[in-house]
Amino acid sequence: MISATDTTKLTNADHPTTSLDVEQIRREFPILGQTINGKPLVYLDNAASSQKPQVVIDTLTRYYREDHANIHRAVHTLGVRATEAYEGARVQVQRFIGAERAEEIIFVRGATEGINLIAQTYGRSLLHQGDEIVITTMEHHSNIVPWQILCEQTGAVLRVAPINDDGELMLDEYEKLLGPRTKLVSITHVSNALGTIVPLRQVVAAAHDRGIGVVVDGAQATPHMKVDVRELDCEFYTFSSHKMFGPTGVGAVYGKFDLLEAMPPYQGGGEMIKSVTFEKTTYNDVPHKFEAGTPNIAGVIGFAVAANYLVEIGFDRIAAYEHELLSHATEMLSKVSEVRLIGTAAEKAAVLSFVVNGVHAHDVGTILDSEGIAVRTGHHCAQPVMDRFAVPATVRASLAFYNTPAEIDAMVVALRNVIKVFSG
Ligand code: PMP
Repeated sequence: MISATDTTKLTNADHPTTSLDVEQIRREFPILGQTINGKPLVYLDNAASSQKPQVVIDTLTRYYREDHANIHRAVHTLGVRATEAYEGARVQVQRFIGAERAEEIIFVRGATEGINLIAQTYGRSLLHQGDEIVITTMEHHSNIVPWQILCEQTGAVLRVAPINDDGELMLDEYEKLLGPRTKLVSITHVSNALGTIVPLRQVVAAAHDRGIGVVVDGAQATPHMKVDVRELDCEFYTFSSHKMFGPTGVGAVYGKFDLLEAMPPYQGGGEMIKSVTFEKTTYNDVPHKFEAGTPNIAGVIGFAVAANYLVEIGFDRIAAYEHELLSHATEMLSKVSEVRLIGTAAEKAAVLSFVVNGVHAHDVGTILDSEGIAVRTGHHCAQPVMDRFAVPATVRASLAFYNTPAEIDAMVVALRNVIKVFSG
């Protein structure tokens, strides 16, 4: 078995053209240097959650060691410091996704809470009996269930745009679903189960032509590609810090300012009010109107540091490197005749979902773990995708820029051993 250090050396030798110094990057992620079950950790579960660079870990520690106090309304030094760091993070996240104003960024627990917030504020005031929300077959449960709840509350109806055998959105079918009752489209940017990158500009343009707003679930896009919400022109965009090398329990909702201004609050409590009497409460300005209670202050600050870390590496380099990795992995897996890839879209992020003939996904995952290789197995919170491809579960290897071709090779070797064991 190759050691973790050898693995990265192999990468640079094999890929002299890449301008990404993977060896250096791996050193910035302390967790990657360990062994699991006596083997170098090969972490291929980045779509579930990615690992954290030292700069993010240090930011959290330093914040708690030196700067912590509750934010807003404090006159003392630590309160001011924490508030400045928190509001500074809002500006960083605004720049990260190209929003026009910092007030258009609402901090939430993650993409899941983001979609629930949009559904229960914007959605709840917009939708009535018989109105329609359009989603797609490839959505994560967190972009299905909040809309189902909203449908139960309002009498609205969920319509689902289909995907083809490669896992691509069928654009013509999607457009056919946009009718006079359609009030909202909510769609993923990148599918977590298939890797498909959705052609959002076309999706948004088709909706806007009919006066329909678009919510984007960007949870799987922001770790891999430059997102510019003004260029996309979507009404809302939500994403999670922990999938983009930041802390868990924090994420953001971007919303166009005028829409946020018009929306009712999400949760009631401290921070989201200007004044409270038993007779009348006035709500705070956007975005504070949507941030009731003490937020994840350290998490927000770490989130912004992670976003800056990605920008510093550069999305051009990240995308080029991950594209190489994906091509290598696709080629290697295609040589294993027992493996069937699920999700073969022309435009794909670095996700490989597959089934192995005669071996249940969970068995594959367990045996790979014994080799130190972390993949995810199951329905990936996208059961309708599993139904679409008539499989109960897949094995999913999801890559990040710190992965190497040698790690892919290690996975394929382990996979061949699994197949041998099960066929013998
Ligand atoms: N959408 C997609 C496409 C996802 O992959 C995930 C996480 N697996 C989510 C939404 C939910 O993100 P979180 O659990 O961080 O709220």
